[in-house]
Amino acid sequence: MSRQISSLLAIAAVCVTLAPAPAFAQTPKKAPVDCEQVKCIALTFDDGPSKYAGTLLDTLKKYDAKATFFLEGQYVKSRPAFVKRMAAEGHELGNHSYSHPDFTKAEAGEIRNEIKKTQDAVKKAAGVEPKLLRPPYGLADLQVSDIATEFGMPMILWTGGSEDWKSRNVEAIKKKTMEVAQPGGIILMHDWVKQTEDAMPAIIKSLQKKGYHLVTVSEVIKGQNLQPGDIFPVPAGWQK
Ligand SMILES: [Zn+2]
Repeated sequence: MSRQISSLLAIAAVCVTLAPAPAFAQTPKKAPVDCEQVKCIALTFDDGPSKYAGTLLDTLKKYDAKATFFLEGQYVKSRPAFVKRMAAEGHELGNHSYSHPDFTKAEAGEIRNEIKKTQDAVKKAAGVEPKLLRPPYGLADLQVSDIATEFGMPMILWTGGSEDWKSRNVEAIKKKTMEVAQPGGIILMHDWVKQTEDAMPAIIKSLQKKGYHLVTVSEVIKGQNLQPGDIFPVPAGWQK
């Protein structure tokens, strides 16, 4: 081995030794799930964090399931501890605006402000910035897409809805969720619906029994190669 290479190796060894210990204990990392090889599904919870988020996080932890939270900035501001816990426990944080206006009826400045304020609130609460945008009501147009591009974010809708906000019934939420579940699916739920929290243990157990890995949206969309401003899944009639 040449002297130059061996001294480089020595430097590398020193760097590894001197790497600082993590500031806090993290959840041990398991081998990442490859959604090209196994059945994956992403449960997504909109409009939170709600006051029930702690119960939901307890359930997710118990069953070793990951989820994605499309957060509303105003509640990130009022319940920052939940947001911090979501990030610490390996869930994904997405941006769902600050106060939930219909972006297709809003001025560009208002949309930018809604997104930016939420990015800032999440960063302040959890130390990370969302990389995905879910426009309120799942409504977007070319102006919204252009602004999402400015923020470097693709827009994420859903492949199926639990209709939890409509039924507010544990059995109905479970039934609907299992009906729309599919490999690579992105399921819309709401953590402010109390019955969703109540249905969650049974839903997770049923999905896992069917072989699903419950992962984040970023895991599920990995193969899609989405660019900022893209929308997924593409809604009918969408043109860009
Ligand atoms: Zn919403």
